[in-house]
Amino acid sequence: METKLLRVEDPKQNPQAIETAAAILRRGGLVAIPTETVYGLGASAFDEQAVVNIYKAKGRPSDNPLIVHIASMETLPTLAREIPSGAYALAEAFWPGPLTMILKKQSSVPSVTTGGLDTVAVRFPSHPVANAIIRESGLPIAAPSANLSGAPSPTNARRCVEDLTGRVDAIVDGGPCQVGLESTVISLAGEIPRLLRPGFVTLEQLCDVLGDVAVDSAVLSKLEEGQSAASPGMKYKHYAPKARVILLDGDDDAFVDYVNRQQGDDIWALAFGHETAALKKPYMVMGDTDQQQAQRLFECLRALDDKGAKVIYARCPHKTGVGMAVYNRIIRASAFTIQKL
Ligand code: AMP
Ligand code: MG
Repeated sequence: METKLLRVEDPKQNPQAIETAAAILRRGGLVAIPTETVYGLGASAFDEQAVVNIYKAKGRPSDNPLIVHIASMETLPTLAREIPSGAYALAEAFWPGPLTMILKKQSSVPSVTTGGLDTVAVRFPSHPVANAIIRESGLPIAAPSANLSGAPSPTNARRCVEDLTGRVDAIVDGGPCQVGLESTVISLAGEIPRLLRPGFVTLEQLCDVLGDVAVDSAVLSKLEEGQSAASPGMKYKHYAPKARVILLDGDDDAFVDYVNRQQGDDIWALAFGHETAALKKPYMVMGDTDQQQAQRLFECLRALDDKGAKVIYARCPHKTGVGMAVYNRIIRASAFTIQKL
């Protein structure tokens, strides 16, 4: 398959590219599109064959459901039923934006789209290019992250090109993603709201709107053998570079000492930034703030693979605010290998 590369800086200035992407989606094709979180691999959410092709292109297990992206609140009731008032309160506060809600699904939503579940994940992205393409297509767009399954999510078009060339119809380059981690996922389909995946919209912000929010046990720790996942995606090995990642949980001095004492080739540090002066190993910088770490984590992991890193010793983010999302991704990238210093 030939993969078209479409560059869109501003949808108003590149209407032709938006129309081309939308036309591909309408005829059941696959298009990688920029969003504020990460790049998504889109197809019509109502076209079963197109959705099957998403799973194939990514090598994604078919029981891992997709998020359906909308560009208007009017689309929501065509996807979900028995929508609770809390969903409208969250939409008011955070949509368009990096929040996904799990709701009871309408029977018209194909079961392949929801991984066989009776619920559907819905998000209204804020990225102008994603918005323009969804609006122009006239369809709700199912889109997981636009990477090969298991790899760190792509936060720029170059990484989509690496993973998906020859596997999808088009890749739309809209520049680097601002958030850098996938959306916050909250379930409103059960008795109480439950955070399934942390993201840029924080637990604290969700609680401000809803009162109490339960945190799923898979958010901050590994699921036990045989324990079922409320969010199927959380049970898979995820976000992992080829290198081994070891998280070091300690302060600046302990981190620097530990890394400097390691022997062997191709050892790299994944640092916050302010502590690098004393590092004697090559390093890459995630950033000192939660937001910077979120934006850079996945690109750092991919860039470290490009450098030939075999072992990556990474700083351990804290677990509150946006840091909770960074922690959730990095513990998976490290296959839960955390060394207390
Ligand atoms: P991705 O689009 O690759 O970021 O992955 C989407 C995430 O949303 C995965 O972790 C899925 O398991 C989760 N998800 C999507 N739909 C549902 C649903 N109906 N119920 C629970 N989790 C869902
Ligand atoms: Mg993904």
